Amino acid sequence: MEESITTTTRRDGAGASTSNLVAKEARRDSRFYFADGNVVILVDDNLFKVHRGVLMQDSSIFTTILSLPPPVPNPEGSSDENPFILHQESTETFRALLMVLYALPHEIVAIHNPETNIDDIVLIAKAAHKYGYIRTENWAADVLSSRISAAQYRENQDFLRLLDYAILSDRSSLRDRVFKLVMCSTKSGSINLSRVIHFAERKENIWWNKVLEGAYYRYALKGPSRWNSDPSLLKRHKRNLYIGYCTLVDVRQSSFTWAHVCEDEGACSTSFRRQLEIAPFPGPMADLLGWVDYVAQSGFVIRKGQLRRAPLTPCHTVGLDTLMAMVYSLDMYELFTNSSY
Ligand SMILES: [Zn+2]
Repeated sequence: MEESITTTTRRDGAGASTSNLVAKEARRDSRFYFADGNVVILVDDNLFKVHRGVLMQDSSIFTTILSLPPPVPNPEGSSDENPFILHQESTETFRALLMVLYALPHEIVAIHNPETNIDDIVLIAKAAHKYGYIRTENWAADVLSSRISAAQYRENQDFLRLLDYAILSDRSSLRDRVFKLVMCSTKSGSINLSRVIHFAERKENIWWNKVLEGAYYRYALKGPSRWNSDPSLLKRHKRNLYIGYCTLVDVRQSSFTWAHVCEDEGACSTSFRRQLEIAPFPGPMADLLGWVDYVAQSGFVIRKGQLRRAPLTPCHTVGLDTLMAMVYSLDMYELFTNSSY
């Protein structure tokens, strides 16, 4: 049974330097409020009463915090009325940490079960990382790596939280594998692209930028009627998609020049443009990357009135290389996130 009590806590987010006190409803956690616990911790609206010895395992940061001599007779953490406050923490994450610190054997076995949700293990790894439980984190990260290697995850697993953890903890091997999974699911459309956009745009690093540009690109290909009917997208997302979409189509249709190695530049350019137009690329108009790869692999000419695959002339090969270099040098991230592109 959860018991509701009233406690007075600092909610300014700036630690103990202020006397701005705000009364707040707090609730004793249903599982991790032990009568014989000796440190009370407040996370969100939840009070945890746990054991110092458990928190101080594995050289965690609690070892430093809790081993300091109390500065006053009634120090923070000594009671429900004066709890130790963990700012910028979620009940979900802290509970996951306590779950593993207090785990019984069958609970540890359950974590190894292939049926266990990967995101539950990510929560443990992330919390252990945050509070410096090094061996606990290594164990959770190993479980995650094994699950990924053995492809033991749900069919609709989106891996976003796992990628976030792998980047945060600088585990390059795990990060690279999960990054590929996220990019593949973005490309195949097996992941909710709006969710990916919302998740990735809150992060600021090169990995999430790549994920964001990939999600925008794939969503752009679906066309305006699809984004406009997606209530989860914000106005700015739709604007970004529209600008990106139009730019991709423009680039595909615009003319370009290259350093000719032939005798007749004008006729050569015209015939090459004609070849690009007749290449029967099956993808959407905005799929610039798909189109340029398709053209590079195909090489089409009209011979005797019929469309045929044929090797390109040496000059057209130079032209195609120039086109590909131009397309691949486009900064897709800027294209979709910077409206002044
Ligand atoms: Zn030429």
